[in-house]
Amino acid sequence: MEIKKNKGYTDGEFPLEIDGPKRKVVHKAILDFTNDFLNTIDDAKAFHFNTHAKTEQDDLFEIGEGTLKLDKLLDLIKERVVNTGLNPASGGHMGYIPGGGIYTAALGDYLAAVTNSYAGVFYASPGAVRIEDALINWCGNLIGYNEGFGGNLTSGGSIANLIALSTAKKTKNITSKNIQKSVIYCSQQAHHSIYKAISIVGLEECVVRQIPLDKDFRLSSPHFNEQVEKDINNGLNPFLLIANAGSTDVGAIDPLQELGAICEWNSIWFHIDAAYGGFFTLTAYGKNRLQGLKLADSVILDPHKGMFMPYGSGMVLIKNINHLLKANSYSANYMQDADKEAHYSPADLSPELSKHFRGLRMWLPLKLYGAEVFSDYLAEKLNLTTYLHKKLIQMGFTIVCEPALTIIAFRYNFNDSNNDDLNKALLNHILEDGRIFISSTILNNHFTLRAAILAFRTHKKEIDILIQLLKSKLEDLSA
Ligand SMILES: *Cc1c(COP(=O)(O)O)cnc(C)c1O
Repeated sequence: MEIKKNKGYTDGEFPLEIDGPKRKVVHKAILDFTNDFLNTIDDAKAFHFNTHAKTEQDDLFEIGEGTLKLDKLLDLIKERVVNTGLNPASGGHMGYIPGGGIYTAALGDYLAAVTNSYAGVFYASPGAVRIEDALINWCGNLIGYNEGFGGNLTSGGSIANLIALSTAKKTKNITSKNIQKSVIYCSQQAHHSIYKAISIVGLEECVVRQIPLDKDFRLSSPHFNEQVEKDINNGLNPFLLIANAGSTDVGAIDPLQELGAICEWNSIWFHIDAAYGGFFTLTAYGKNRLQGLKLADSVILDPHKGMFMPYGSGMVLIKNINHLLKANSYSANYMQDADKEAHYSPADLSPELSKHFRGLRMWLPLKLYGAEVFSDYLAEKLNLTTYLHKKLIQMGFTIVCEPALTIIAFRYNFNDSNNDDLNKALLNHILEDGRIFISSTILNNHFTLRAAILAFRTHKKEIDILIQLLKSKLEDLSA
């Protein structure tokens, strides 16, 4: 084997190890950058219109032989990353499902990366695993789980759904022998990551049924009950229901308690996708609306939504930790030292082995500020939604789906065959302005605008800008 000769670095000049004074220099450059970003965030755009075309500068992203100085790299990041596309840190971000990314969470990431604590295995970092466990316990209790549950911090809701579905498959013993007779139920409001997960965990051959929605876009429990009975009578094997606690599209909360009872009666695995809605259990209003969460066999949450974490924070909770363990158990000779520990490791409970110590980013702000602060912020978002809802009605908008949480789906009825296009023009006006970002969807076959109020930096000021933008364009279009 030919080995490339190294340059004979000697102590004190290994280029990947920089000393204290040099660290201060790079640290200052990065801090200046992030301070500038945050000091101007109130006036920064939420969306940079027409910034997607490739420029010459983008060639600098490619990895080649040469190197660039940090100040040049930061300029490049500012111009070609931060100032293009969406700005999810902005309070003007009301598209899709926002979150924000609180600053001390980023510092938690910094701590995690510098210490490089190994969060996958208890033996390697009992402290990191205990922090992850503390978060899972807290969230499990939030949704009403008692003893014996388990979970895992994932990179997001999609992977959390994937883990939940693979656990359901394993627990319900779905194999080549019964897969074609096994039935999965969901609704047209199911997030597309559910369909991805069905495919990835090998459940595509199941019968997948979309149960009709009621007028509020909630999975209809009478229809579900009827369909399950029919399927059983026809010799099928109903085994999995996927419900929403806050659908991405409109924020619909399915009738969780009724669905849970039907699942229990028929031994159907009850999965609830609470990626968006779950953390509203921190508010009195949400706690009341989301009582059925505890009935689920599995629940997913997205801390990078309702806990305002930076992207890369999801969570799966499984009512019976043994089910999670069985679906992810492993052993390897080179892991024998770790195997001796009497404490579960995240690697026993998920597909990941080495992983980011992602617990620290969530644990740090929770310990610094307390859960009450998050509850207050979420209550503020609920109040802002009520405020926007009222204003939209005053302006003559049709509310397509009454908000159950903090998403409002709305459109204007221009009494014109071009209604969809005129609503698109409203959206475009907002995107071109850039201070506010909202997105759109199709509901009842019509182009529909949607505002999702969840970024921790969204306050009344941003809602008022949105109202102003809608008002002025409406006047334009009706003139
Ligand atoms: C966001 C979301 C997901 C997907 O989660 P990611 O974190 O984007 O992977 C799944 N379900 C619902 C209801 C969501 O809102």
